Amino acid sequence: MTRMDADVIVVGAGAVGLACAAELSGGGLSVVVAERHASPGQETSSRNSQVLHAGIYYPAGSLKARLSVAGNRSLSEFCEAHGVPFLRTGKWLLAVEPDEEPRLAEVVAGGRANGVELEEVPIGRFRAEEPHVRAAAAVLSPSTGIFDVHGLFRVLRVIAEGNGASFAFRHSLKAASPVAGGFELVFSDPAGEEARLTAARVVNAAGLDADVVAAMPGLNVEEVGYRQTWTKGSYFRIRSARRHLARRLLYPVLPAGYGSVLGIHLTLDLDGELRLGPDVEVLGDRRQDYSVDEGRRSAFLDAARRYLPSLEEGDLAPDQSGIRARLQAIGAPFRDFVVAEESARGFPGWVNLVGVESPGLTSCLEIAREVRALLGA
Ligand SMILES: Cc1cc2nc3c(=O)[nH]c(=O)nc-3n(C[C@H](O)[C@H](O)[C@H](O)COP(=O)(O)OP(=O)(O)OC[C@H]3O[C@@H](n4cnc5c(N)ncnc54)[C@H](O)[C@@H]3O)c2cc1C
Repeated sequence: MTRMDADVIVVGAGAVGLACAAELSGGGLSVVVAERHASPGQETSSRNSQVLHAGIYYPAGSLKARLSVAGNRSLSEFCEAHGVPFLRTGKWLLAVEPDEEPRLAEVVAGGRANGVELEEVPIGRFRAEEPHVRAAAAVLSPSTGIFDVHGLFRVLRVIAEGNGASFAFRHSLKAASPVAGGFELVFSDPAGEEARLTAARVVNAAGLDADVVAAMPGLNVEEVGYRQTWTKGSYFRIRSARRHLARRLLYPVLPAGYGSVLGIHLTLDLDGELRLGPDVEVLGDRRQDYSVDEGRRSAFLDAARRYLPSLEEGDLAPDQSGIRARLQAIGAPFRDFVVAEESARGFPGWVNLVGVESPGLTSCLEIAREVRALLGA
């Protein structure tokens, strides 16, 4: 068999690629991680809510349900074991109006079917705990938390490098082809220099471009349903003087059919600052434009005032944004994460991770375990 440069090339050093690198190198494989940016986690993995989700909203038995429920446990243990800042804040699921209570009950039943602990809290106790929040009914998810993604990137990289993995930053994958015993990957660096690497196995953890990378060896991504739609989510932060408005994350329920888009909710960061978002903006073109449009302020204010009635326009300032790699159109039937080894399609040893939107961060360690099992490593 042709001698390969590595047992595995992982394409992409977001949370998922880093977790795969740590997991696979821990199993004794030689791993190269190729990333087009100069450091890990420069795209979606650092542009999100940093919430360790409980696994409430996803259909029972789906990968999103299974991997986020398991990931809530494994990632919180990982953060604690490795000193990654982590806070189990808990979150409130809210029926803001009485007529939203049946929907809240449905969401709670779905979460419980996934094995998630959810506590119906008497409204008097909720109002005592969150005197600034308006709701007709509230349910507590005690296992939801927040954590420091940059701490996670650092630790996963140290683990992977400690296991002998190497990182090729500023290397953008341009082409891939099957060769005897594996794949040849062609990269370019910022100077336009080309580099070729071979590996027996490839893990495509390319996030927003996972569909583009999946197509490189010759897979018809339209036919297999891997084409991703980019959906931007913007955030507005609430000024510090009003950080007392909420003690836990606030997630008002949405009507059924929104899939894993959760509406304009409120999250905390590790410093106790409050943020609203993300909203939903389908991007027609594939441009990573992370600017936040000031014009969205009034929509944020209207959505948030339903449950935080004392908020005022001057309390909000544009914050960050991120882009979801979605397989599922808004209102369309549920689509799960794709975690697929492609032997059956003629590409043995090639693993595609496609449509890894939320709860991808929560699930990253579990996705990596699935990948290791798929590769028999
Ligand atoms: C607004 C928003 C909020 C979210 N909130 C949460 C949350 O609170 N909790 C949660 O669990 N999940 C959340 N998510 C989802 C989560 O952020 C993602 O599922 C996760 O970050 C995906 O990680 P990744 O490693 O697959 O992708 P990425 O972080 O995008 O990493 C992919 C990497 O691949 C690299 N790459 C791409 N193409 C190439 C190429 N050709 N050559 C070399 N490198 C390449 C990119 O540069 C990038 O670094 C949120 C997502 C968004 C957008």
